[in-house]
Amino acid sequence: MPSYVVLLGPPGAGKGTQAELISEKLNLAHISSGDIFRENLKNQTELGKQAQGYMNRGELVPDDLTIEMIKDRLQRPDCKEGALLDGFPRTPAQAEALGKMLAEWNGKVECVPYISVPPKELVGRLSGRWTCKEQGHVYHETFNPPKVAGKCDIDGSELYQRDDDKAETVERRIKVYLEQTTPLIDYYRKQGVLAEVDGTLPIEQVTTLLLKAIEKG
Ligand code: ADP
Ligand code: AMP
Repeated sequence: MPSYVVLLGPPGAGKGTQAELISEKLNLAHISSGDIFRENLKNQTELGKQAQGYMNRGELVPDDLTIEMIKDRLQRPDCKEGALLDGFPRTPAQAEALGKMLAEWNGKVECVPYISVPPKELVGRLSGRWTCKEQGHVYHETFNPPKVAGKCDIDGSELYQRDDDKAETVERRIKVYLEQTTPLIDYYRKQGVLAEVDGTLPIEQVTTLLLKAIEKG
């Protein structure tokens, strides 16, 4: 039976950082909705063009487009054993749709680690974030710097600062998260799968806590 884990938390909580560190250990494909949208944007696909305006404004891409995209992605061979979802679902409608599609495939959301970080810490995290051009690996200029400035440790590609990590857009994204995504905390708590993890701790400690939470879940 495939196994699905959803990483929940505000933008800048460390979902992408942690997914990169634990997906191999869990033998689950790391599926980041933001990375997929950015790839589509870079290649100027139809989906990329449709998503662009929303992403630039720091708003959510409409549910129907997002759900369709994830459904398609989760049916690829690398998700045969399941997936570690990062950035999806982000609305109650997306969570409902995910539950339905997984039920069709005899799977379910088994664990939802909620990486909690207070909003006041997020701006500093996002404004200091540097992302790798090739594969989206993430660094922070103070908290997790690359070995060589401006270059990804893993694939050597150039690092850049995301357009939506500038201050005005970050504020919008946090607001959108508080309004549209926080209801999922209760949604998954009621299903008995939520596990809160303190995301303000250093990266390695968050990894340890996450792995423990997922083992138990
Ligand atoms: P998300 O995927 O949730 O938006 P990221 O994983 O991209 O968040 O992390 C946002 C920024 O915060 C990155 O620059 C990352 O290096 C940094 N970061 C991640 N986890 C921590 C942590 N535990 N402590 C300090 N900085 C962190
Ligand atoms: P992220 O990389 O997770 O910070 O996502 C970057 C942007 O992609 C978001 O601000 C949204 O515009 C879009 N996006 C990513 N995931 C979703 C989602 N599940 N639903 C709607 N929009 C999304």
